[in-house]
Amino acid sequence: MDLLEYQGKQYFAKFGIPVSAGEVTDNVDDAVAIAEKVGYPVVVKAQVLTGGRGKAGGVKLANNADEVRFHATNILKLTINGHVVRKIWIERASDIAEEYYASFTLDRSKKLHLGMLSAQGGVEIESVPDEDIAKIWIDPVVGLTADAARQWVLDAKLNPKATDGAVDILLKLYDCYINGDATLAEINPLILTPDGKVHALDAKVSLDDAAAHRHPEWENFTGLEPIDERERMAKEKDLQYVGLDGTVGIIANGAGLAMSTVDIVSQVGGKAANFLDIGGGASADHMANALTVINHDENVKAVFINIFGGITRCDEVARGIIQAMERVQLRAPLIVRLDGTNAEEGRKIIEEHASDRLIMKPNMLVAAQTAVEIAKGK
Ligand code: GDP
Ligand code: MN
Repeated sequence: MDLLEYQGKQYFAKFGIPVSAGEVTDNVDDAVAIAEKVGYPVVVKAQVLTGGRGKAGGVKLANNADEVRFHATNILKLTINGHVVRKIWIERASDIAEEYYASFTLDRSKKLHLGMLSAQGGVEIESVPDEDIAKIWIDPVVGLTADAARQWVLDAKLNPKATDGAVDILLKLYDCYINGDATLAEINPLILTPDGKVHALDAKVSLDDAAAHRHPEWENFTGLEPIDERERMAKEKDLQYVGLDGTVGIIANGAGLAMSTVDIVSQVGGKAANFLDIGGGASADHMANALTVINHDENVKAVFINIFGGITRCDEVARGIIQAMERVQLRAPLIVRLDGTNAEEGRKIIEEHASDRLIMKPNMLVAAQTAVEIAKGK
């Protein structure tokens, strides 16, 4: 997961890295109110997951409310490298004496962490000559020591006034990268102010999705994005679910089959309400969870359960469906297709309980057609 600048700065702040005070918004009036609060001059900055915002007109200084209004209006109309600007970050402007570059990432070939530091910051690091970038390879077991950090800063030939501040920030940035489970933590520019302070003016952070279970607080990074309540529920229940806007709820086992199910529903003239891969787990619990999430979606008029038994046995799935139906008060009928391992036993179980709420169909196409017809109220 890549963070927007303001989210990256919030993350930095948790690790004690100095950033400017500011707030995010999606509208011009709030931008002015924020500017009045943080005090002029301010910088108005486009929040998009792409670099080069400065060059594209997405970073502007403003000295008063009129200028904030002017720049905020313009920036909120921009598309930068294909990214539509929906949010802007307003922060107190900094005085800059020098701009540096600092980052940590993983060097896969060396199996070590790589730190890069350059006295030439504020420009894309790709355009900085290699000899002007001081690199440090860090053994994750040893970590970054204060002595190594100091030597690294000296190697980068920053202004001597910046040495202490830079060492301090780099140690904190490494902490953020390691303990914050980031795959990239970059500050460009890292600035030295005229009064000798070192400060992060930009933040580029990518988080390691595989570590999300350690960080419930990452949920906040959805920020102002609308959260799909169905997806939030599904996530809580550990289901592979993607909300769509049709009327046929879908449960299938395996991502490939789930996608084919979405496709076949649209081929026969319907529209899927979701993608849901129930995986190998066909227990009643798992099925009940899947049905609960789908049941929460008011657009769903029929639910198509499409199972191809492999390791998952169809009779187990069938029992799971029956038990789940006893636990979840379903609003829409279920249309079931079972094939593969123990399909016959599975179908028998469903047929014993068949009704206009639970319909067994012999194959995927007929099941899809039935689900779509029911969803359309035919
Ligand atoms: P990017 O272009 O997407 O990397 O956006 P940055 O946040 O790095 O900003 C681009 C440039 O704008 C920086 O390199 C600075 O030169 C300038 N800039 C950003 N914030 C400030 C600020 O607070 N004061 C001043 N004077 N310049 C700033
Ligand atoms: Mn930058």
